[in-house]
Amino acid sequence: MKWVSTRRASPPVSFVDALFAGTAPDGGLYFPECFDALPPSSLEAVRSADLVEIGTIVGAHLLRGEISERELAPLVRDALDFPIPLVQVAERTWALELFHGPTCAFKDVGARMQARLLHHFTDGTPLTILVATSGDTGSAVAQAFHGVPDTRVVVLYPEGQVTDVQEAQIASLGGNITAVAVRGTFDDCQRLVKQAFADDGLRKHVWLTPANSINLGRLLPQVFYYFLLAGPFERVEGGPIVSVPSGNFGNLTAGLIAGRIGLPVRRFVAATNVNDVVPAYLRSGVYEPRPSRRTVANAMDVGAPSNFERVRALYDDDLERMRRDIAGAAFDDAHVVAEIGTVYRELGYLLDPHGTIAWLGLQQALAADPGAAGVFLATAHPGKFREVVEPAISEQVALPPALAEALGRPRHSVPLPASYAALVELVRS
Ligand SMILES: *Cc1c(COP(=O)(O)O)cnc(C)c1O
Repeated sequence: MKWVSTRRASPPVSFVDALFAGTAPDGGLYFPECFDALPPSSLEAVRSADLVEIGTIVGAHLLRGEISERELAPLVRDALDFPIPLVQVAERTWALELFHGPTCAFKDVGARMQARLLHHFTDGTPLTILVATSGDTGSAVAQAFHGVPDTRVVVLYPEGQVTDVQEAQIASLGGNITAVAVRGTFDDCQRLVKQAFADDGLRKHVWLTPANSINLGRLLPQVFYYFLLAGPFERVEGGPIVSVPSGNFGNLTAGLIAGRIGLPVRRFVAATNVNDVVPAYLRSGVYEPRPSRRTVANAMDVGAPSNFERVRALYDDDLERMRRDIAGAAFDDAHVVAEIGTVYRELGYLLDPHGTIAWLGLQQALAADPGAAGVFLATAHPGKFREVVEPAISEQVALPPALAEALGRPRHSVPLPASYAALVELVRS
């Protein structure tokens, strides 16, 4: 299978080329050239398979012609060595808990799989992974690549705008991981990274590979876990409603791809915080990216969601079709914090701020669709956002051991002004 640019102005490429290139030469993002459904026998197998088997079947289908199930299986087993449980939280409502990986956020899935795919396809040339993060991406990518030979990882994060735990996870690894505290916003970090990837002069000297969710190596593995819903919701007419807490819209893009290749999904909910560019677009038909605003769900503080270009390409920019498949929903901080308390008191389930937004989006969709059942994606461990969660429930929250350990390690990060020249100097050093 080939991969085409969302802008249709550069030639289709193999997965391997897309994996190392990141964006297409025309500035677009790669996505599948066609959406052949999983063969019925594979869909049948997936319904009773575990995560590793699902990843192997779905991954080999998406990467057919480039990697076989036999080659892929050990990479999936190694990357996805943690559970992704489906937990019933309320009537008609399940959580898909994606936060049981080493950094306690769903980005572990994509980052760990990407690291293994890069390693599988590389020829040993030294590689620099350059990544911008609002918090969770950086920690997941740094952890996934820590100690990988011939690989240097440069993580740009907005100084003072990630949580204590996130900073500890990014800045305490050392070795092949360089943590960079940018004096600016996440959008500044993202802009600098985009500029570097567009800079042919720089790329002559350094073999740069992106690890943001624009990279297929991260995006594709996220398709896998949606198929965990195939078995449990087999008898639900039309499949479940799936609510996705969204920032850069990689997660939702992966869900839409899962739907296109055969997973029954009744409807998706694009749930955001007040950075609601996409819900506003679904409402008004006007797409207006704008500077991001800080919220309690900081991994979703994105004002110009990079993957939305893929979503639009998936629908050929047909807004009506998009509206049939995707409902928008946006929630402010006060609502999110109050809901964490309510759900904990009434249902005994502890949500993190990101999962709360997905939960709220799902409740809204279920209220409008009385026959439906649904799943919200719980993307982070509540202990990762103790600053928000503890006051909301007036109780202390235990930090998961992996995070507690990171907090105890010494940190080192390089301060950087939000200037491209400064970044070039650092990357070339
Ligand atoms: C990154 C992240 C999101 C947003 O995912 P996108 O794929 O960027 O839409 C949601 N929740 C958490 C915890 C995250 O880390």
